[in-house]
Amino acid sequence: MKGRIAHLECWLCGARYGWEKPIGLCTCGKPLKVVYSLPEKFEVDETKGSMWRYGSVLPCEELSLGEGFTPLFRAERLGAGIWVKDESVNPTGSFKARGMAAAVGVAKQQGVIRAAVPSAGNAAGALAAYAARAGIEAHVFMPRDTPRACVVECEIFGAKVTLIDGLITDCASAMREMMEGEYLDVSTLREPYRIEGKKTMGYEIAEQMNWTLPDAIVYPTGGGTGLIGMWKAFDELEQMGMIGSKRPKMMSVQAEGCQPIVRAFENGSRFAEEHVGAKTIASGLRVPKAIGDFIILDAIRESGGAAVAVSDDAMVSGAKEMSAKTGICACPEGGACLAAYRQLVAQGFLSEGDEVVLFNTASGLKYQEALAR
Ligand SMILES: *Cc1c(COP(=O)(O)O)cnc(C)c1O
Ligand SMILES: [Zn+2]
Repeated sequence: MKGRIAHLECWLCGARYGWEKPIGLCTCGKPLKVVYSLPEKFEVDETKGSMWRYGSVLPCEELSLGEGFTPLFRAERLGAGIWVKDESVNPTGSFKARGMAAAVGVAKQQGVIRAAVPSAGNAAGALAAYAARAGIEAHVFMPRDTPRACVVECEIFGAKVTLIDGLITDCASAMREMMEGEYLDVSTLREPYRIEGKKTMGYEIAEQMNWTLPDAIVYPTGGGTGLIGMWKAFDELEQMGMIGSKRPKMMSVQAEGCQPIVRAFENGSRFAEEHVGAKTIASGLRVPKAIGDFIILDAIRESGGAAVAVSDDAMVSGAKEMSAKTGICACPEGGACLAAYRQLVAQGFLSEGDEVVLFNTASGLKYQEALAR
């Protein structure tokens, strides 16, 4: 393990834990954060064209399929000031690769031999791939209506695949019932390290914008690891003197059919109620209840950001427009960011010409059923 980790700390109650052994949640039931003894002088390892160029602030030795350091494009045909961070080029076609590279990397160093995850599709594919790379057994539990490409991918990586009638929350219950013996649960935020991989998106935006940050980041939010990770990255960068205290407005995008964070944001609550009867074609956003809800909501509010919901039709049109005007193969979640951007400008949360980064979190090729409509 990297000696740089100081300790783990609960995001809610602040209780501290050691990092030497596999660990899940705090005894209070909330997620744990990795706290580092940060290097005095931060250095990017420019020999690496992957997220491991930030190895000095990552929790383990490199376990890589080439994830991260994805392109940040100016998308002038979409509008002035718009940038797209294109995560579709990651291994397994989504940014879940970043988180799983870190989580499986740590697990391997801790001697873990089996890992399991409930997933709407992309997390399962990423776990399957990194487990194959590391020589760890992977068990994935997905809803039966998961895009076919995600299921096939897990199978060819040699994972044990179980399809469940229901949502990701039902997959989680099935996993706990069906798994026998010891295994690492790599569910979103139920272990501390996926977020460490995801935070590299924040490091990259800063580096690619020459150590400045945009006015806003529009991010499709399911479990929230990416949004929380980037927020943590900016904090670490400020502590190391790489950036100042100015932050982008964190704009969280959800689907009209599954918008627990948007509702909590509008109600002024710190925790979100479960969205009953969640339904959307954007499988990455079909998360009715997020265990990191308060961390997401705190970051949105501290940043002066907002949370908005868009319809499935708007995200499909958004994905098609983003693809046709950038050459990037957009997924529905990426399309949701474009639709949300337009909504945020119309509502006065953003001005035309603001420097705004939209996230295309996966490749549209994984969503042929949804996008062919
Ligand atoms: C998982 C996923 C999301 C949501 O990511 P979080 O960081 O967990 O909120 C968005 N888009 C896609 C394509 C995903 O797979
Ligand atoms: Zn706690």
